[in-house]
Amino acid sequence: MRYHSHVIVSLCIGAAAAAYTALPFTASYTAGVVIGSLLPDIDEPKSYVGRRSFGMANKVKEAFGHRGMTHSLVVWGVIAAIVLFESSSSFSFGFVLGYLFHILEDFLSVQGVPLLWPLQTKRYKLPLYRTGNFVEKLLFYSSFALLVYIGNEHQLFYEWMKSLSFDR
Ligand SMILES: [Zn+2]
Repeated sequence: MRYHSHVIVSLCIGAAAAAYTALPFTASYTAGVVIGSLLPDIDEPKSYVGRRSFGMANKVKEAFGHRGMTHSLVVWGVIAAIVLFESSSSFSFGFVLGYLFHILEDFLSVQGVPLLWPLQTKRYKLPLYRTGNFVEKLLFYSSFALLVYIGNEHQLFYEWMKSLSFDR
């Protein structure tokens, strides 16, 4: 999945999560979701974050391969525990969720993800789309529409704008 799809699909799920739970849809929450949804591809030098990783992506890819360790639920669990232990800000919650959504989104691709690495190297998938194909575009546009709908229906955009002045 391309980075913009990861961002929009994750924001859409993140908005739904905020609409139906006590999670606040603030600027820092959405910033967390966006960054979390991009970070797992740090293992691919050609990805959006990979190209901005000062060569780190090459090292991670060399060591573990693309869609390797950074796409594991085990690794996510460890990162989530550390991040939430350090801070329970809305940014942290957004980050932890965005990272999880990224793994879920790649799980729906034909390439799949090693969900249980390092316990298992098996790749799990529920193949819905291939990177950049028609189905991914469909996911992108329908998530965008759904995001606007949920945001409007639950006054999330209003909450978001308000957070710009109070959420520091
Ligand atoms: Zn990925």
